Amino acid sequence: WSWWDHVRPASKDPIVGVTEAFLADPNPKRINLGVGAYRDDEGKPVVLQCVRDAEAKIAGSEFLESISAAISSKLVEESLKLVYGKDSNVITDGRFAGIQALSGTGACRLFAEFQKRFYPESQIYLPDPTWSNHHNIWRDAHVPRRTFRYYNPSTKGLNFAALMDDVKNAPDSSFFLLHPCAHNPTGVDPTKEQWREISHQFKVKNHFPFFDMAYQGFASGDFDIDAKAIRIFLEDGHLIGCAQSFAKNMGLYGHRVGCLSVLCSDHKQAVGVKSQLQQIARAMYGSPPVHGLLLVSTILSDSDIKSLWLREMKAMANRIKSNRSALRDSLENLGSPLNWEHITNQVGMFCFSGLTPDQVNQLARKFHIYMTQDGRISMAGVTSGNVSYLANAINQVTN
Ligand code: PMP
Repeated sequence: WSWWDHVRPASKDPIVGVTEAFLADPNPKRINLGVGAYRDDEGKPVVLQCVRDAEAKIAGSEFLESISAAISSKLVEESLKLVYGKDSNVITDGRFAGIQALSGTGACRLFAEFQKRFYPESQIYLPDPTWSNHHNIWRDAHVPRRTFRYYNPSTKGLNFAALMDDVKNAPDSSFFLLHPCAHNPTGVDPTKEQWREISHQFKVKNHFPFFDMAYQGFASGDFDIDAKAIRIFLEDGHLIGCAQSFAKNMGLYGHRVGCLSVLCSDHKQAVGVKSQLQQIARAMYGSPPVHGLLLVSTILSDSDIKSLWLREMKAMANRIKSNRSALRDSLENLGSPLNWEHITNQVGMFCFSGLTPDQVNQLARKFHIYMTQDGRISMAGVTSGNVSYLANAINQVTN
C-alpha cells in the first residue's frame, strides 16, 4: 500500500498531445497545426515590437507589492475600454467589478467559482463545440454543464435556428458562455443581426451572458469590431461577464495576463462583487504576477505603444486572412472536387476544416501534418512555405 496507489494518470489534453506527436517526428516537412498561438511566416513564435518597447520602458522597475494595486486597477480600466469602448459610461460610472486574472483560463475559472458561490444551484450552457478546457473549468468549479447547439457540420457554419431554440428552451435565468469573436474551435461567429436576436432572446429569458474573449482583434483585425457582440448586449441593458486574455493578441502566452470583469447595476454593487472576486482569487493563488501586468498596462496606457500594438495586431490578423485565401486557392487549383469556401468564411485563429478523424490520422502518418482530431487547423501554422505541401496532402486524403 502506498498513499497514491489509486491515482491513475489523467487523460491527456488533446492539444498537448498534438504538440508532443509533432515534436517526436523528425521529418523536416512536419507541420504543427495544433497550437492556437500566433506564428510568423517561418512558423516561429513572435515577440511583438510593442512588447519590446514596453520592456524597455519598464526595465529596472521595482516589483513591490505596493505598486501593484494601482497598476492592476489601471490594467482593468484599460481592458474594459477595449471591451466597451474608450468613452463608455460603464467605466466613468464605475459600474464594473474587474480584477486582473491569470490569463483567459484564470478569468474563466474565477467566474466559475463566483457563479458557484452566488448561484449554487445554477448550471452553465457551453456552445457545442467549444474550447475543451471550458468543460474542465466549470467541472472543477462544480457547476453542472449543459451544451447549446452552435455549429452545423453540413454547412460548416452557424446552426442559428438550433442555437435560438436552445436559448429559448433553457430554463429562465440560465448562465451562457459565448465566444464574442473568433470562436474556438470552429472559426464561426454569428453576424451582427444574429447577435441582436440572441441578445433580444437573452433579455426575454433573463439569461446571463458570460463572454470569453480570448482572441479580440483576430477576427477582423479591429478591436472595436471584434467587441461588437458585447456592445450589442450592453445597449440592450444586460449585465455582462467578460474574460479577457492578452495571451494571443499581445503574444504574451507565458506571462498569464488577463482580466475578469462583471458589469453591475451600479457602483455600490460593483464594489461588493469586486471584493468577492478578490477573496476567491486570494484563496486560489494569492495575487497575480506583476511583470506581465506592467507590460500590458504600459502597452495599453502609452498612446504611441498602443497604436503600434493596434497596427501589429492588424498585421497578424491580415497574415491569417491571407493564409486562408492561400490554402483555399491551392486546394481549388489542385482541382479538389470539394467545397472549401468555409476556409475563407470562417474567421480568427482557426479553421474547422471538416476533415474526419481518419483523415487527420492519415495526414499525421503519411504527411507529418499534426492537428486535433476534430480537424481544427490553426491557421497561424500555415506559411507561404508550407501551404502547397499542406493543400496537396489535404487533397490526397480527401480524394
Ligand atoms: N478561451 C478560449 C476560447 C481559448 O481558446 C483560450 C486559449 N486556447 C483561452 C480561453 C485561454 O487562454 P489563456 O489562458 O492562454 O489566456
